[in-house]
Amino acid sequence: MGLGEAVHEARTRTSQLILYRDGKRPISVDLDKLTAGISSQHVEILRGELTQLLYDATREGVEYVFGDSIATLDDDGDGVNVTFEHGEPRRFDLVIGADGMHSMVRRLAFGPEESMRRPLGGYLAVYSMPDELLLRNRMLLHLKVGRSASTYGVRQTGQARACFLFRRAEELQYDYRDTEQQKRIIADEFADYGWEVPRLLKHLDAADDFYFDSITQITLDSWQRGRIGLVGDAGYCPGPAVGGGTSLAAITAYVLAGELAAARSDLPSGLRNYEQKIRQLVDRSRAIGPTVMKTIIPGNAFAVRAVPIGFAILPHLPAWLQRRVWSSNGVGKALGSLSLPDYADLVVTSPAPFRPRGG
Ligand SMILES: Cc1cc2nc3c(=O)[nH]c(=O)nc-3n(C[C@H](O)[C@H](O)[C@H](O)COP(=O)(O)OP(=O)(O)OC[C@H]3O[C@@H](n4cnc5c(N)ncnc54)[C@H](O)[C@@H]3O)c2cc1C
Repeated sequence: MGLGEAVHEARTRTSQLILYRDGKRPISVDLDKLTAGISSQHVEILRGELTQLLYDATREGVEYVFGDSIATLDDDGDGVNVTFEHGEPRRFDLVIGADGMHSMVRRLAFGPEESMRRPLGGYLAVYSMPDELLLRNRMLLHLKVGRSASTYGVRQTGQARACFLFRRAEELQYDYRDTEQQKRIIADEFADYGWEVPRLLKHLDAADDFYFDSITQITLDSWQRGRIGLVGDAGYCPGPAVGGGTSLAAITAYVLAGELAAARSDLPSGLRNYEQKIRQLVDRSRAIGPTVMKTIIPGNAFAVRAVPIGFAILPHLPAWLQRRVWSSNGVGKALGSLSLPDYADLVVTSPAPFRPRGG
């Protein structure tokens, strides 16, 4: 899409990670050196920035509808009849659910979320707050057994974000629409934590962008059915905050577009080819969550000791060894398991404006 340079320019520029543990000296990690071994193209970008870049690049040729949701779907074999919560009913050749972990398209076409959830036993909360610690391009991370707290500066807003992670063997029962209840869960869970947490919790009540969810994977056997398909978190969320989800969503969206273009008018067969091409990548991505959770929410005292040592050593290894370490972990193994097909011959450089069928 020609967006590589713009994505790189919008990167977060968080360059220093300081790791804290109770009773130990903090360890400073150079994040540029730590992530250099992943790939020369590794970029960290805020989700909102990436969304804006994609939107700006496509808004001329794509019809966007905001503030609405699909209400019903009916695939009659030749097309899909769609009703909306607000807009008029319409008919489409194809419906792709790219609506995230709690996808409505998935629920309507593939069944209730409860049957496909695989909770990994972790919870996370994130919210914005003033940058009282003058973090700018730094991230502070404190680890304890079963819990971690972190905060990092956000260059684009001049603010900071507070992030809390904790483990639970049993699933918590809470109302996913009740933000105040979720804030209380975090306040109670971290009330005795110490470190900088009281300073972070001070801003919890006022936070208007508070996010709370369980670290849960979505596992389905199939991501296409007739003329309806799923892509990204909607189809195979590897777990929020454990990494890899964005790369997985971007790679699979690329394959989806390529296979639909290659199938020309036989869209259901394009969907089947897409599923077959990404199956191994999706299967392997399920290893990402459990692996990364061991680092970001250490499960025992040994892990609390080992994680900072690993982070401190890795940047000093020779480049070839760094690459080998990264490619052997869950994320590297999963994302390296698909060599991207080349669809260059199918690219249409100036797309015709989108014209929906009927409606
Ligand atoms: C706190 C946090 C930290 C994360 N950190 C990382 C990380 O470091 N690295 C990484 O790779 N991944 C990370 N992830 C995961 C990453 O954000 C997702 O994997 C990625 O955004 C998936 O992209 P997507 O387009 O499939 O879904 P989403 O980004 O979730 O987009 C879905 C879109 O659908 C819209 N939508 C939802 N329901 C409806 C509806 N009914 N009608 C219309 N629209 C709807 C939503 O508003 C949203 O815009 C993190 C996630 C969280 C929550």
